[in-house]
Amino acid sequence: MAKIFCVANQKGGVGKTTTAVNLSAGLAQLKQRVLLVDLDPQGNATMGAGINKAELTASIYEVLLGMSDVREALKTSETGKFDVLPANRELAGAEVEMVELENREKRLKDALAAVSDDYDFILIDCPPALSMLTLNGLCAAHGVIIPMQCEYYALEGLSDLVNTIKKVHAKLNTELKIIGLLRVMFDPRMTLSQQVSAQLEQHFGEKVFKTIIPRNVRLAEAPSYGMPGVSFDPSSKGAQAYIAFGAEMVARIKTW
Ligand code: ATP
Ligand code: MG
Repeated sequence: MAKIFCVANQKGGVGKTTTAVNLSAGLAQLKQRVLLVDLDPQGNATMGAGINKAELTASIYEVLLGMSDVREALKTSETGKFDVLPANRELAGAEVEMVELENREKRLKDALAAVSDDYDFILIDCPPALSMLTLNGLCAAHGVIIPMQCEYYALEGLSDLVNTIKKVHAKLNTELKIIGLLRVMFDPRMTLSQQVSAQLEQHFGEKVFKTIIPRNVRLAEAPSYGMPGVSFDPSSKGAQAYIAFGAEMVARIKTW
């Protein structure tokens, strides 16, 4: 059975998709069987994995609404060596259409149960909102990975996310826990980054991942080639950091 993780933060542009795509590719390099679930109507994870979101015959939208079997919608990222449950703009409609459905928070959980045995890891790239889609991600997952930039406003909004996770844990998914905070787009030359990073360690201790993802232009360039940064420039600092993060995740789940 796969271990399922949400990459979530309701703040926009904090590195969720970059983390989901590159952790997927990093884990694949470590011989893990990985499924990346794109739960964002922006479809950035889909495109970043090299899959054209405009040419999908079935996507996560149909899966959530029960119009398609999950296996029919799966694609493979040739550049990243992992599978993808892709998304595009249609998914925005699911938000409204799911309201009518029974068990609407658990549609993704139920869909993933059918393929869980095929993978070691399932990573879910959440949209930048605490919406019904994100709720589906949290209900399906064993844990949450929270990417954060070490900047002045980093902690703002974190309490909303933590409270949502607590509520989901209490009412909908008792397995759910915060796996860790991942420091991303880190610039060691900035004193502020160092300070916020130290604060995070003080407040959250073990919940802060040891691996730090540096700001690295190769990670930002890779999506325009439809490639994870890890495959686009394996020797870059950003790629190396995500491979190290993959190893940290593999080590963590061994202790479960
Ligand atoms: P959204 O909330 O819109 O889904 P997101 O949280 O998924 O955004 P990303 O799309 O991963 O964030 O990243 C936002 C931008 O920052 C992108 O242009 C991405 O290429 C860039 N970026 C992410 N991580 C890094 C990094 N470590 N170094 C340099 N650029 C990065
Ligand atoms: Mg994103």
